[in-house]
Amino acid sequence: MKYYEIDCKNIIIKSKLPDTDYVVNPYIGCSFSCLYCYASFMGRFIGEPVENWGNYVYIKKNSVEIFDKQLKKFLDKNSSSTIFFSSVTDPYLPLEKKYQLTRNMLEILKNTNYPGLISILTKSALVLRDIDVLQGLKNVEVGFTITSSQDRISRALEIKAPSITSRLDALHKLNSHNIRTYAFLGPILPHLLQNPSELESLISLVAQTGTKSVYVEHINLSPYIKQKIVSYDKTLASTYLSLKKNKIQINDDFIRGLLDKYGLHLRLGNVIEHRK
Ligand code: SF4
Repeated sequence: MKYYEIDCKNIIIKSKLPDTDYVVNPYIGCSFSCLYCYASFMGRFIGEPVENWGNYVYIKKNSVEIFDKQLKKFLDKNSSSTIFFSSVTDPYLPLEKKYQLTRNMLEILKNTNYPGLISILTKSALVLRDIDVLQGLKNVEVGFTITSSQDRISRALEIKAPSITSRLDALHKLNSHNIRTYAFLGPILPHLLQNPSELESLISLVAQTGTKSVYVEHINLSPYIKQKIVSYDKTLASTYLSLKKNKIQINDDFIRGLLDKYGLHLRLGNVIEHRK
């Protein structure tokens, strides 16, 4: 894994994602190395080949200072905008322990009493370090990506990401501190098609943490992502490739039925279809 410190010119960036106005990515790259990651295109901005995704992190070391400056201008016009941490990295990578970029930006939002929604999405229980800051924010929610009910499966696909067990524990802790939470169930991995009862286990585990709402997203089995999975693990590959690309996916009504059964609200009203 290679790490580089860089400077950035802007850190609050207009978003094209549904449900959010601006995104903040304190890092370029991601050391969690998920095989299904859609963000590998980011490499083109810093001259890294797409295949190298997961092997580097560029740390935007001046991002807190830039954030502070941008926010001051931004507050006049956009003070109710949603700001999302992060869209193409994880805001709580292990490096965040040392650099504290996410924490320091959240502190600025707390000190300015920012009224818009701050939405955080992570796979790391390191977010618990910042409970004191989160509790001081006016309007915040923390989401955890949960893709499987089993640590064994997660380890194969989310190679260096924290375990599913630690993510579920963290959701539970956040809920017990009255911090609003959600889960991002996605991508819905192809092995769940072969064993829908595992999808039910996953949804049940999320409900047991006290989290009440979820996003659900179908997988984008693009040729590049397929290729990554194939080159990583032959057993995984044969399972995945036997499920023909995007032609078979779990029925949305089946997903809705499970969410209803466990009392979970489906955000956006739909399962996200990545290609649309
Ligand atoms: S944690 Fe998110 S950004 Fe990082 S590799 Fe996994 S999917 Fe990509």
